[in-house]
Amino acid sequence: MGRIQLDQLTKRFGETVAVEDVTLDVEDSEFLVLVGPSGCGKSTTLRMMAGLETPTSGDLYIAGEHMNYRVPQNRDIAMVFQDYALYPHMTVRENVRFGLEEEAGYTADEMDERVEDVADTLSIGDLLDRKPGELSGGQQQRVALGRAIVRDPEVFLMDEPLANLDAKLRAEMRTELQRLQAELDVTTVYVTHNQTEAMTMGDRIAVLDGGQLQQVGAPLELYHEPANQFVAGFIGEPMMNFLRGRRSEDGFANEYVEYPFDERLERTVGDADELVFGVRPEAVDVRRVDETPEERLGPYEFRMTVTVTETHGNQNIVSLTHADDAADHNALRAVTDGMHIVDVGESVVVTIDPDAVHIFDGATGEARCNRRLETARELTI
Ligand code: ATP
Repeated sequence: MGRIQLDQLTKRFGETVAVEDVTLDVEDSEFLVLVGPSGCGKSTTLRMMAGLETPTSGDLYIAGEHMNYRVPQNRDIAMVFQDYALYPHMTVRENVRFGLEEEAGYTADEMDERVEDVADTLSIGDLLDRKPGELSGGQQQRVALGRAIVRDPEVFLMDEPLANLDAKLRAEMRTELQRLQAELDVTTVYVTHNQTEAMTMGDRIAVLDGGQLQQVGAPLELYHEPANQFVAGFIGEPMMNFLRGRRSEDGFANEYVEYPFDERLERTVGDADELVFGVRPEAVDVRRVDETPEERLGPYEFRMTVTVTETHGNQNIVSLTHADDAADHNALRAVTDGMHIVDVGESVVVTIDPDAVHIFDGATGEARCNRRLETARELTI
């Protein structure tokens, strides 16, 4: 079946190491998202799977067979690209059917039947006689998907397939692609730089940076248990807050913040001179100052000033600063519920629960301690 194995796969372009020593196992029927910033090597990784680039070293297997030098036509894969790559002079029917014409063993009637089936699955049945120029971007994307699906391949490889769509359509197509992938049960590798797509679509996510694999795991695993500061910062929107500082006698400290470690943090952080303190915006609790007189601030509380509020209706994103922190290196962003209004310039008390704290090694970025999950509430319906 469609298992894909990358064993120490490396690709160099002259001096540039685009992909370095990547070992990754994509299971049969899995939806794996390859994500990372521009230039991190995700397209090159996908193109090696497709046979459009030859690895410099390492091994690639699809369905247990060695693929390094096999031409794309003999890999039983189908690719979908950002630019759709439809033939403008052909109708939708001909474009979709084209996906089948390279396959041996179909009669003309069988091909027509398959095209009709796929068109039904994608709700493009009424567009079959139009040319791509007469379709919207979303419709063109469906046709490109149709051309991939019609061949019934072992593996789908998708490179930013939704990047050209507007936000609303992108959200719709995300759901549709997930539905299709589950229905067709085909191993899928999906490249994107968009962490929302990665979080919402992937069974697992592989994060790349500088050609190197940073972490592979289920979306919530990466969100709550990032292997390092890069993953913690890349996954999650608005992004995790980071404060640089040092190990003090009883916890974390810098010029503006002193945060004593509880027993768990004390035990897991260990020794390190430089530390990075991390906390997700939804774990930064903001209260009006008059609810807590200053003299009674607890060990995990800070007085801060609101600098910006972004209203989203269902929630607010509140930016906070410490008095005198002109460079704003210790600013925090908090997500508060939409009914919880604070004003710019207001002085507030910020509480950070020690269970929600992440600590990273300031020199290597490696996670020393991730947030505690045992306290997460179970959703009962
Ligand atoms: P993006 O999201 O911008 O497409 P990416 O993560 O897909 O980026 P790649 O396209 O895989 O990144 O490129 C990884 C690195 O390899 C980059 O530094 C890029 O400049 C380099 N690179 C890619 N293709 C080639 C090539 N054909 N020749 C030389 N360098 C290349």
